[in-house]
Amino acid sequence: MSQKIVIYPGSFDPITHGHLDVIDRAINLFDHLIITIATHRDKEPLFDLDERLEMIRACTADYENVETTFYDGLIVDFAREKGACALIRGLRFVSDIEFEFQLAWVNRHLNKDVNTVFLMTDAKYMHLSSSVIREAADLGGDIDIYVPPVVAERLHEKFGK
Ligand code: ADP
Repeated sequence: MSQKIVIYPGSFDPITHGHLDVIDRAINLFDHLIITIATHRDKEPLFDLDERLEMIRACTADYENVETTFYDGLIVDFAREKGACALIRGLRFVSDIEFEFQLAWVNRHLNKDVNTVFLMTDAKYMHLSSSVIREAADLGGDIDIYVPPVVAERLHEKFGK
């Protein structure tokens, strides 16, 4: 039987426990997960591509069926290249839905063979976003419970706090 491959695209600037919770759920549903840093939307990320790749790889080192890479074009083209059947997106509050649905419709229009699968995190991560973490870290807030230690360390280094 062919492997069910899924792509999890995002900025991951930086990866948080919210992303990792989505990853944990996805690997129970699919055979192979490709975390893909979508670089086309990069404006001025806090962490450059190599730093983000390193952090994600360190946080997912124990998973056999997870790989991490990046892609600069249309994510549905990447899915086709990799033979993936679906894209994973995480849903937080209702506020995510409008944008996520638009994106899913466009992606379906571009490649009807790739479905978008939405996963909800545990309630304790529902409020988490990378941007909130960056802001809190910059202001010296305690972010250690929201991100893995390797990410917390990089954030402390970045902001000197
Ligand atoms: P963000 O900067 O909003 O964290 P990303 O582009 O890195 O965004 O997110 C990639 C995907 O992961 C998106 O589908 C986003 O909704 C989802 N995601 C991010 N954080 C969470 C969370 N705490 N709970 C559920 N999904 C999340």
